[in-house]
Amino acid sequence: MSGGLKTAFRRFDAAGPLAVMLTGKCFCGAVHYAVPDEFLYAMNCHCSNCRRTTGSAFKPFAGIARAKLTVARGRDKLMVFGDEGANDTHCRVCGSLLYSVVRDGAFVHVALGTLVDAPSIRPTMHIFVGSKAPWFTITDDLPQYEGHAAE
Ligand SMILES: [Zn+2]
Ligand SMILES: [Zn+2]
Repeated sequence: MSGGLKTAFRRFDAAGPLAVMLTGKCFCGAVHYAVPDEFLYAMNCHCSNCRRTTGSAFKPFAGIARAKLTVARGRDKLMVFGDEGANDTHCRVCGSLLYSVVRDGAFVHVALGTLVDAPSIRPTMHIFVGSKAPWFTITDDLPQYEGHAAE
């Protein structure tokens, strides 16, 4: 029965039954990463650190368990600013900010601008609006938080 065969393939797929993989890369292409399309949250951070590390008005990012992100190419080209448990990870050739390691190393915040493929998730809120760039106006209706989102 073909139906049963299909189910068996799904069950034994190491990546999991519905894990769609997304790829991402830096500006120069030296670093490539892969992450399943299983982000747990996504938001736009307007804090001054995110503005400086990206050179933008804010940083759209999405969070997922660190173990789920794989650097597929250019592991030796990474430039880690910070320590094991909390850092910004860049390509050291072109400087792109790829992701940040957060929450004592348990999670990564992927800089969504470095994804090649579109994730299913969309940013659902603006955080650290209290330190937003004065020259930028938020024009969508997403909830805004002065600092971290309310629990
Ligand atoms: Zn690069
Ligand atoms: Zn931030």
